[in-house]
Amino acid sequence: MIKVIGFDLDDTLWAVKPVIIGAEVALKAYLKDCLPNVDFSQERLLTIRKQLLEEDPSLSFKLTVFRQTLLTRTMTDSGLETSQTEQLAAAAMAVFLQARNQVIFYPGTFAALSELAEDYILCALTNGNADIKKLGLDHLFEFSLSAEQVGAAKPDPTLFEAALKRTNIKAHEMIYVGDDPLLDVDAAAQLGIRTIWKSNPKKQSDLITKPDAQIQQLSELPAAVAQIIERHC
Ligand SMILES: [Mg+2]
Repeated sequence: MIKVIGFDLDDTLWAVKPVIIGAEVALKAYLKDCLPNVDFSQERLLTIRKQLLEEDPSLSFKLTVFRQTLLTRTMTDSGLETSQTEQLAAAAMAVFLQARNQVIFYPGTFAALSELAEDYILCALTNGNADIKKLGLDHLFEFSLSAEQVGAAKPDPTLFEAALKRTNIKAHEMIYVGDDPLLDVDAAAQLGIRTIWKSNPKKQSDLITKPDAQIQQLSELPAAVAQIIERHC
């Protein structure tokens, strides 16, 4: 009996690349306006990013903390007072996150989620830092967990295990929907969670575990869920 449907967000419910590019453009414009004398060039940010990762490798999945720390360090290294940098970086980060949540949903997303929310608990399990509240999805999702919150990124099982624990269900009572063969399909299947692959042609070659169902469009999702239930339950 399926009780919970979990979702990856980026590239499953919307295309993430244009969103991140847009957020970086907004952030750059804000920083240029606010701190014209600080060098936020790509080259410099890359160097500082590398240093920070060497100091704390766990920053790689703490996306919000990582970006904010990167901004703070870039400002401090440019001679700004530490008392100022925290606040300035937080304000810049708010600009980034505002734009990061300006996504264009794939066609059929809301209809499919609304239909499924009538019968199942929906949750978001993401390695990214999209915010279901800012996205206007919080009325459809019962909860959302990020890699940053649980302390590990998919394919580590922690995010999935946290969702199973929170809903108090067994793995086979959950379906997970995602675009990444390795991080989503394979990682969830390893735990015994049923999987639906939102096909992503760029990632086809990495496919390891065969998903229980495959969809091209979100509009196909309710039928794919029904198909899995028919087969297994
Ligand atoms: Mg994804």
